[in-house]
Amino acid sequence: MKLILLGAPGAGKGTQAELICERLSIPSISTGNMIREAMKNGTEMGKKAKSFVEAGNLVPDEVVIGIIKERLSADDCANGFILDGFPRTIPQAEALDNMGVEIDTVLSIEVEDEKIVKRMSGRRVCESCGASYHIEYKKPEKEGVCNLCGGKLICRKDDAPETVLDRLKVFHEQTEPLKGYYEKTGKLKLAYGQEELSDTTALVFKALGI
Ligand code: AMP
Repeated sequence: MKLILLGAPGAGKGTQAELICERLSIPSISTGNMIREAMKNGTEMGKKAKSFVEAGNLVPDEVVIGIIKERLSADDCANGFILDGFPRTIPQAEALDNMGVEIDTVLSIEVEDEKIVKRMSGRRVCESCGASYHIEYKKPEKEGVCNLCGGKLICRKDDAPETVLDRLKVFHEQTEPLKGYYEKTGKLKLAYGQEELSDTTALVFKALGI
């Protein structure tokens, strides 16, 4: 299955992508994680991306399109993949079409802005592997420590409340129009984010028929 997850920052795309990945054994590809990794390692691309990410803006299309093109050509994508956080603009969606990628389903996880702002303040990510947690909704087994790799859990710089508002603005202006873009292809499905993570997952799996 070739799947795109759409949704505002903090809507839970990353967590649902991990769960779908476990269920279907296909890779979950997060441009955000790849960019953060590059920033941590101080690569050329990471240095280019840093100021955009920290200000809550999108990294230029040509940079992310290049990252995705390379990633999707890897062998592990042959049987499908989950795109978490890409595309985020119409030109990115057009670039994906031009690569000849046939997407099966585009699932949008719907969460109101107000709830997002509340949720983001409790979000924690592993500084080593990028796994995502929440101090209330998705607690790690041991406080401050990643279940998967034992790495330290930290607050993302761009999860600060003022940056979250900027990211939501960018989402509504640049990413939300993708719903119309994919609705026209008949591939768009919606799942409404719930208070309980497991309830959202049930709706996501049902929408995907998995
Ligand atoms: P995320 O972890 O998906 O919320 O991404 C974190 C940040 O990485 C975003 O706020 C953007 O600055 C950048 N980013 C991730 N994916 C994209 C994309 N597809 N297009 C542009 N910028 C992106």
